[in-house]
Amino acid sequence: MGIAVPAEVESGEPRVGATPDTVKKLLALGATVRVASGAGLASGITDEDYAAAGASVVASNAEALAGAAIVLKVRRPRADELSAYPHGALVLAIMDPYGQHEALAALAQAGVSAFAMELMPRITRAQVMDVLSSQANLAGYRAVIDASAEFGRAFPMMMTAAGTVPAAKVFVMGAGVAGLQAIATARRLGAVVTATDVRPAAKEQVASLGAKFVAVEDEEFKQAETAAGYAKPMSAEYQTKQAALVAEHIKKQDIVITTALIPGRPAPRLVSAEMVDSLKPGSVLVDLAVERGGNVEGARPGEVVVTPGGVKIIGHLNVPGRLAASASSLYARNLFAFVETLVDKKEKTLAPNWEDELVKATLLTKDGAVVHPSFQPQPA
Ligand code: NAD
Repeated sequence: MGIAVPAEVESGEPRVGATPDTVKKLLALGATVRVASGAGLASGITDEDYAAAGASVVASNAEALAGAAIVLKVRRPRADELSAYPHGALVLAIMDPYGQHEALAALAQAGVSAFAMELMPRITRAQVMDVLSSQANLAGYRAVIDASAEFGRAFPMMMTAAGTVPAAKVFVMGAGVAGLQAIATARRLGAVVTATDVRPAAKEQVASLGAKFVAVEDEEFKQAETAAGYAKPMSAEYQTKQAALVAEHIKKQDIVITTALIPGRPAPRLVSAEMVDSLKPGSVLVDLAVERGGNVEGARPGEVVVTPGGVKIIGHLNVPGRLAASASSLYARNLFAFVETLVDKKEKTLAPNWEDELVKATLLTKDGAVVHPSFQPQPA
């Protein structure tokens, strides 16, 4: 059972799919692990660290991949990488499958079994494999740190001999995994925190972190959570009411952190250019949804935009990657936990149960075809 850990080829991706800790655990499952030289460096892991854990460090991705039964990746392999992937290999990654028919066709054509870790069902058994949670949690934390670095004021209230510095006012929009961590982090730094969401369940969670919940709580709000725990796209009427409430609230804020997402759709637009203009100069917005179309008008992927009114809009890409060592450590454990379910521990062999609900939910391609029901090629 050969396991490959290639280096990520996408620029701006410092994470890696295995750490010395998970290499040891993979070896204990009966696997051999080949890591491409330098794969962990951007996460603070040297070749020597991997070798000390028992992995073979090889010169190139092609060498790591040769003969591998399982490939542990962060990003979906690009079409030009796939020629090095052994036919039949199980490839675990954040596959970003929505609207990517060509890329999925390339995975199918390469004959790999591609698993999209972000489609892991959010059930108790799979919590340890939940890459969305492990990475969003870190992104929520980092959003606050990034905001504080761009903010020209302190977060906590400080009473000094020279006078009092008021506490920063932080507004978190979207109180899922990232938003709740942003609330907790901003509170730890001493800010006064408010938050909004469209799911009623968020109200209590926000309050339990010591923040005030601000939302339009009408009949639609009461129905806004899907059975899977995600938000539904809201009606135009609701969005108008929400915008009016937010417009009033936001102009009193120093920091706004937006995290609102709806699975498989563009991010909802929550902050208009007028709302941005209503903020005081020096205020900071962080749009964690920027890669999915953005919650904030004027946010630009990968940039810190300064508006003519002196408001900063932070649109960093790959925010978990800004904490690469922590992100890789949690991501690698997520992958390991899933690999464990694909192995017959007694026989120490690869034995995926293709009927397992975790496999069915995440498997995109197998035996040359796109097999996931949600990503079937559209008839021309
Ligand atoms: P997400 O990343 O899909 O969205 C982030 C947040 O944005 C969500 O809270 C969503 O309700 C909110 N949002 C969407 N549209 C909005 C709008 N128009 N205005 C304001 N907010 C909006 O969500 P997530 O962080 O992945 O969490 C989704 C849910 O799953 C949460 O209830 C979370 O607690 C739950 N969860 C469960 C498990 C588990 O059981 N294993 C694990 C992780 C998360």
